[in-house]
Amino acid sequence: MAHLLLHYKRMNMQQTLRNVIEFSGIGLHTGCAVNMRILPSGENTGITFVRKDIPGSPEIKAVSSNVVATSYATSLGLKGVTVSTVEHILSAFYGLGVDNAVVELDGPEVPIMDGSASHFVNMIESVGLSWLAAPRKYIVIKRPIKVADRDKYVLLLPADEAEFTIDYSIDFSHPFLTKQSFSKLFSRDVFRQEVGNARTFGFLRDVEMLRANGLAKGGSLHNAVVIGDTEILNEDGLRYPDEFVRHKVLDMMGDISLLGAPVIGRLIAHRSGHGLNHKLVKEILKRPGRWELTDTVVSESSEEPQSIQIEKMATV
Ligand SMILES: [Zn+2]
Repeated sequence: MAHLLLHYKRMNMQQTLRNVIEFSGIGLHTGCAVNMRILPSGENTGITFVRKDIPGSPEIKAVSSNVVATSYATSLGLKGVTVSTVEHILSAFYGLGVDNAVVELDGPEVPIMDGSASHFVNMIESVGLSWLAAPRKYIVIKRPIKVADRDKYVLLLPADEAEFTIDYSIDFSHPFLTKQSFSKLFSRDVFRQEVGNARTFGFLRDVEMLRANGLAKGGSLHNAVVIGDTEILNEDGLRYPDEFVRHKVLDMMGDISLLGAPVIGRLIAHRSGHGLNHKLVKEILKRPGRWELTDTVVSESSEEPQSIQIEKMATV
């Protein structure tokens, strides 16, 4: 019997927050107390950070050309003004489908909260999202794109369907943390339930070196998983046995959001970090022949799609 497959063209509209949210916290690396507000923003404006503590309230767009540092966190900057550790809030936006928002802060670093994106996710969901009048544009990968640094690599391949899949593996040279991998078809629910609340982590053996370099000043067991030689130092242990690789996925989504449009493709990463993630974003932008920017995605399904359907193309 012939199998029935339906091909749909669909268009998803851009989204923003329905209302303003605000909260306070400390920066992981600077240790600075920061107040932050997230405001709705119109279609095609993207994500903009605003430093309210600096005269003239300078704005920095969350785009890869504004990345100024990628060691231990991703920092954006423009004309000498910076905002650091942007990856977790950007990941929450990417994971929940927030295309446009203004992030105001009165300090140099996004608050770390509990080390994951869960606080941002909960706050955004408490006000909800609203549709805007323009369709969301996607970067659809058509030919492979790869970046590597010795044994570390990220590979982006075309997807069979109009989907984003992620396959991430880590392998640290630490007796307690060797191999972990996470492989999923990405969705808002996967982000919310399996990625967004994985915390950042660090090794106890690195803490002195980080502090000596002026980093991790705000770091504590309240906002990071700390890995000792033989045990996890946090009293309550881990949120998932593989929380580490899940957090690396969280970071990746924040870093890849700096492309300015969500990706349709298969992402395979091994031992990547902020530096290599940023290199991937730059490589994608350098090779426009390998992808297509479109607001219409084609999906193939034996069921009615749940998103906005605009045209049924063919029945096989
Ligand atoms: Zn992180």
